[in-house]
Amino acid sequence: MSKFNKTPFTANVWDLMHQPGELRERELDIVVPEKMGEGLVAVQAGATLEVDARLESLHDGILATVRVDTEASGVCGRCLKDIEMPVRVEFAELFAYSLDEAFDYQVEADHVDLEPLIRDAVVLALPFQPVCRPDCPGLDPVTGERLEDLPERAPQEEFDSRWSALTGLLGQSGSGAHAETGSDQTDREASTDTATDGETPSASPTEREKS
Ligand SMILES: [Zn+2]
Repeated sequence: MSKFNKTPFTANVWDLMHQPGELRERELDIVVPEKMGEGLVAVQAGATLEVDARLESLHDGILATVRVDTEASGVCGRCLKDIEMPVRVEFAELFAYSLDEAFDYQVEADHVDLEPLIRDAVVLALPFQPVCRPDCPGLDPVTGERLEDLPERAPQEEFDSRWSALTGLLGQSGSGAHAETGSDQTDREASTDTATDGETPSASPTEREKS
């Protein structure tokens, strides 16, 4: 109790305590003291939390029903463009007069401290994969350019260079396919039943384990 500090997130409830049925509503604009969230978007320090708090005296303690509106900013998870998005969270929590296992929060020095609750609710509400718009096309996987800025281009298919030799062979089918690899090897009797393995240049085909 001695470590209680008054902050913009704390509200004095002295006049409500042990007065079941008493109610007070408060509107607070709180400047975020330090960033909320560690992901691609966060509520940055200096942003404003518009807090609507309803404090109600119950038999066991003070029930806080809170709504917070604020704005998160960061980058789109696909195209890395700067984005801002509104965040709204709502929660209700009882601050007990005496701490027991039933309640996680307690009235301290005639105050309730909304900061941990607001912080947790806001951080949980932040999207894990924020996007600037639902159909954001993201970045070109090859060039890293923002596809939205290049509307005429579809994402390039990644070309697998391992197939280029095969494409060349297909182009000259019928000419006997002078493959550079393996043409002078003597052990060729297995070639008929392994035709489908033909693309895989095997360095030593002498140890075929076909039965
Ligand atoms: Zn985007």
